[in-house]
This record gives sequence, structure tokens and C-alpha cells, in this order.
Amino acid sequence: MSGIDRRNFIKIAGLTTIIGLSGKPLADAFASQPAQASAAEKEGHVGKRWALVIDPKKCLEKEGCRACIDACHRIHNVPQFDNRKDEIKWIWKEEYEKAFLDQENEFIEDSLKEKPVLVLCNHCDNPPCVRVCPTQATWKRQDGIVMMDWHRCIGCRYCVAACPYGSRSFNWRDPRPFIKEIDKDFPTRTRGVVEKCTFCNERLAKGLPLACVEACPEKAMAFGDLEDPESEVRQLLRNRFAIRRKPYLGTQPVVFYLV
Ligand code: SF4
Ligand code: SF4
Repeated sequence: MSGIDRRNFIKIAGLTTIIGLSGKPLADAFASQPAQASAAEKEGHVGKRWALVIDPKKCLEKEGCRACIDACHRIHNVPQFDNRKDEIKWIWKEEYEKAFLDQENEFIEDSLKEKPVLVLCNHCDNPPCVRVCPTQATWKRQDGIVMMDWHRCIGCRYCVAACPYGSRSFNWRDPRPFIKEIDKDFPTRTRGVVEKCTFCNERLAKGLPLACVEACPEKAMAFGDLEDPESEVRQLLRNRFAIRRKPYLGTQPVVFYLV
């Protein structure tokens, strides 16, 4: 798409956003029928259904730890901006109160409310972001990973508006000058596209663990296949009580938090 076409599209997209995503009511983005199918959906590990289980208690054991965030952002060429507006986040820490604002109880300690909880894209089973994308630049693979194709993204930001978890970041500026050290094995993005966590799909393809899971010194995260009853994630979910973010929306996250 040429620069002018792209600018015009973004203008139209902005107007469309005011009247509703793609001209549809926002509620349609949360409909329960499967998100629009694409040829790309067929890729991924057939028969697998990836999930991430986070133990927030273990995560808190090492105060101020950023090992997972730094590893993910370094490997994926995530830029570092010093202002919030331009910030690009794949995995980050959110105050408990904000991450689980609907699941807080009135007796919870004030100190706990402000404790940081690790958050990222939930790779929802019913992802509203996929449903609204007009170019199929984001789609769901057979193994559940919600993918991004930065070359197909036209920067309309429908997906940013549709994601109820703030898991998508938009490149308002050219990110490349703000990457500390470019990892040549991973693509960089350009101004005007959206990005987010893709469950290290490039590492999974090589049989490697997720960068965040590997980097965590407290072993606070487990990644695995929900279809395998013997997997670590299934064992954790069988033996411990777990919650997900904003369950009432019906997005069905596959990121679980042990309580
Ligand atoms: S968390 Fe947001 S970006 Fe990730 S799959 Fe769900 S709706 Fe899409
Ligand atoms: S991925 Fe890109 S093209 Fe698709 S909805 Fe998001 S901003 Fe628009």
C-alpha cells in the first residue's frame, strides 16, 4: 500500500472507529462464534493447544526482577522509549488491582493490591482482536497462538481497541533507533504497525522454550500443551486453583494465574 493510500485508509479507519469497529457494533467483536477463518489459521502444531501458567507468588519472591521482560524484549527487538505514550510492551508488570480489577475482594491487603503481576497477550481462544482485523494481519493458529504479520498490518488499530487487556502496542514512531542492540535473527518493525507477544512462535518452531519461561530464575512460569493430560500446565491446573483475566468477557484466555 502506498504512503497516500495508507494515510487515507487510516483516516477512514478513524472515522469508522467512531461509529463502530468495521461498521459493526463493538459487541460483535466479542461474539461467541469463531473468529473469521483464514488460510494462515491452518499453520501451527496440530493437536496442540498451548497455554501459560503463571505463579504470581513465586514471581514476587525476587523483588524488582525483570529477567523475563528483559529476555523477551531483547530477543524480539522491542524498542525502549522513555515515555508512556510511545511504549511498546510484549510482557510487563501491572499492579494486581489493575490486572484483576474485577476479582479483588474488599478484605485484600492494600500492600497486595499494588504488587506487580506479570501480564502479556492472553492468546484468547475467542480473540476479539482477530475478529476485527480487516487485513488478516492477525490470526489464530491451530495450536491457539494469536499471530501477527507486520507486513500485512495497515495500522488501523482496530485490534488495539478490541483487545480488552491492553496487550497490543502501536508503533507511533520508528522503533529501530530505540532498540538497544538489534538481534539480527528477529525482524524489526516499522512506524505505523501494531505488535504484541506471539508466544515465541519462532523459538517453538526450533523446539526452544519461551524466552520468558527460560529466563525466570524463580521458575514462576510453565508453558505447555493443554491437550496433553501429563503436561506440566495440566498438572498445575488440576492441582491448584487458577484464575484468568476478565473471564466475564468470554474471550477465554489461555494465560492462567495460580492462586
Ligand atoms: S489478549 Fe488481546 S491481543 Fe491477545 S488474543 Fe486476547 S484480545 Fe487478542
Ligand atoms: S493487526 Fe494491523 S491491520 Fe489488523 S486490526 Fe490491528 S492495526 Fe489493523
